Amino acid sequence: MIDLERRSIVYLPGVGPKKAELLEKEIGVRSYADLLSFYPYKYIDRSRFYKISEIEGNMPYIQLKGRFQYFETVGEGRSKRLIGKFTDGTGVIDLVWFKGVNYILEKYKPGADFIVFGKPVAFGRVYNIPHPDIDPMSSIEQVASGLTPYYSTTEKMKKAFLNSRAIQNLVYTILNSLTDELADSLPEYLLKRVGMVSFKEAMYQIHFPDSTEKLRNAQTRLKFEELFYIQLNMLQTAGQRKLRIKGLVFSHVGSYFNTFYSDYLPFELTGAQKRVVREIRTDMGSGRQMNRLLQGDVGSGKTLVALLSMLLALDNGYQACMMAPTEILATQHFATVAGFLKDMDVKVALLTGSTRKKERERLLAQIAEGEIQILIGTHALIEDTVVFSSLGLAIIDEQHRFGVEQRSRLWKKNKQIPHVLVMTATPIPRTLAMTLYGDLDVSVIDELPPGRKPIKTVHRYDTNKKQLYDFLRKEIELGRQVYVVFPLIEGSEKLDYKDLEEGYEVFKDVFPEFTVSMVHGRMKAADKEAEMNRFISGEAHILLATTVIEVGVNVPNASVMVIESAERFGLSQLHQLRGRVGRGAEQSYCVLVSSYKLSNDTRKRLEIMVNSNDGFEIAEADLRLRGHGDLEGTRQSGEGIDLKIADLSSDGQLLQYARDMAQMILAEDPDLTEERNLVLNQKLKKLFSNKINWGMIS
Ligand code: ADP
Ligand code: MG
Repeated sequence: MIDLERRSIVYLPGVGPKKAELLEKEIGVRSYADLLSFYPYKYIDRSRFYKISEIEGNMPYIQLKGRFQYFETVGEGRSKRLIGKFTDGTGVIDLVWFKGVNYILEKYKPGADFIVFGKPVAFGRVYNIPHPDIDPMSSIEQVASGLTPYYSTTEKMKKAFLNSRAIQNLVYTILNSLTDELADSLPEYLLKRVGMVSFKEAMYQIHFPDSTEKLRNAQTRLKFEELFYIQLNMLQTAGQRKLRIKGLVFSHVGSYFNTFYSDYLPFELTGAQKRVVREIRTDMGSGRQMNRLLQGDVGSGKTLVALLSMLLALDNGYQACMMAPTEILATQHFATVAGFLKDMDVKVALLTGSTRKKERERLLAQIAEGEIQILIGTHALIEDTVVFSSLGLAIIDEQHRFGVEQRSRLWKKNKQIPHVLVMTATPIPRTLAMTLYGDLDVSVIDELPPGRKPIKTVHRYDTNKKQLYDFLRKEIELGRQVYVVFPLIEGSEKLDYKDLEEGYEVFKDVFPEFTVSMVHGRMKAADKEAEMNRFISGEAHILLATTVIEVGVNVPNASVMVIESAERFGLSQLHQLRGRVGRGAEQSYCVLVSSYKLSNDTRKRLEIMVNSNDGFEIAEADLRLRGHGDLEGTRQSGEGIDLKIADLSSDGQLLQYARDMAQMILAEDPDLTEERNLVLNQKLKKLFSNKINWGMIS
């Protein structure tokens, strides 16, 4: 039996070294297994004719049979288009063209019968088909021939005759040459139990579907398998970890926590904060090591929850630390925490990259002696020179900003692994959280502190800046401050700074009576801090920045967030940025400035921002619009999940099912040593042996 993963496609008849190199470079296909799992991205159904009355949401490409009633031209300028009213007796649908009008009018005369082929697009409850393929009725025999798969190819591939059809042929060659090798990657008892088709059947049907139904079954099976193994891996390692790692037991709530809670808490905790503190307390007292993700929208009050958790560690004789991704943020956390605790006898310290050598040496000694009880800082915390006397709790703020390795180094800061709390203000949709962080316990703060006025968000085109400037002037005259953010795109930094710098000149010009400061990632830390501080202290009225201010910064007096080129930001990022305002008592505003030319998706994104202030709702929408590959929190730290077929935005139910099944199997056979689970054990090793082990990292 050959190993499909190891068998290079060079050996496949019809490939050879040149094509093999191209396949690897262009689409990452190296082995037989890679090619078999290079699934078609769409199928075109030419096996049947649909009726116009059958058209519904989210259909694939479909085929209709009928005739044109009449044509009309509607719209002006760029949205000018030709509409053909097409009917088959069950209804009428609009066929739409944005170009080639004369040709169409010439060719498709009302009255004659045609076959129309295209993808219906919904506009509210009305459907139309943009730029359909049209054939005269007589060609029906050639046209109607079953479900045709389409594979993604690149220009380079096409030039080397590796088009979609050629890929399908290669797959065919593989499948034909193998029979026994297509051993199932799921055990038979599991397949029976979930009622899914075999691997072999799935392979054939996904590449050469006999019918829509068989294709669905194949897709379901392959999606299930993909999700199942991720869950199995995660749940198994989490289970093993719980058995292996004993948790520090924080058995009591003592005077640090109680004194702070009763005497120094400046406001009543929200219901959600109370609930989450309780969850954390129970967890840290359970004897298991806590490994928890705290999700809470911007401004939901995570810092206070962090502080209370740290006080619990202190009450039990341990130190606690909190790590933030930027110096600005760490400094701010330090100020907040030290401020809250100023009348209590708790030793809090700040350690960052710019802590002076002398000071650092003093701090390091005090940390090692246990004199410093709460340490706040940046990446500086994970350096080897930082040795705690007894670290009981490590908190990571804005955790997605840290790499896996950085996070895992915090684990090693104590002989016995400390409790770990990671916090994020980037709400993660449930399906994504289950896939990325399925082994973490999750707490959610789903309530904002009382009295917050929802931020008013508007969308403006950059053609009318004067109105915007007038508005900003009015707000500043009322004593408020304004953020203006410019996009930063990886790989084109020069351009971005040009935008920012030009913006700076413009703002200085337009607002000579106000003070404008500017920060961006390329500045020296000290300069950045100085500029930032000018804004925090209120000296500067306007702060121009790239996305460096995205996380955490808290200036309650700032009431307007202007986002330039808003079309270049992702939804979650826009939401994060908007979260910088609305922190004080005043009505706050977010102005999304974009160019006039917007794609449909972008328009939708901006619309969602205008209509919703709810981070979870926005994250779900983001997942639907962009797919999981691109989502914030997966992309940034380079730990994206690479799913070949499952789609986290639509396969939520299947994911839950896969997780349940994985749980069931592990409950009976935690180490997967039973004979019937041999396949699972082997496949897990193959899949995850050289991957990041999420179970060991938070
Ligand atoms: P985030 O979750 O974004 O980190 P913060 O912890 O920075 O939010 O809290 C945002 C603001 O809300 C801070 O000024 C904080 O003092 C305030 N805050 C937190 N909890 C409450 C509460 N229960 N009632 C009123 N204000 C609160
Ligand atoms: Mg925060």
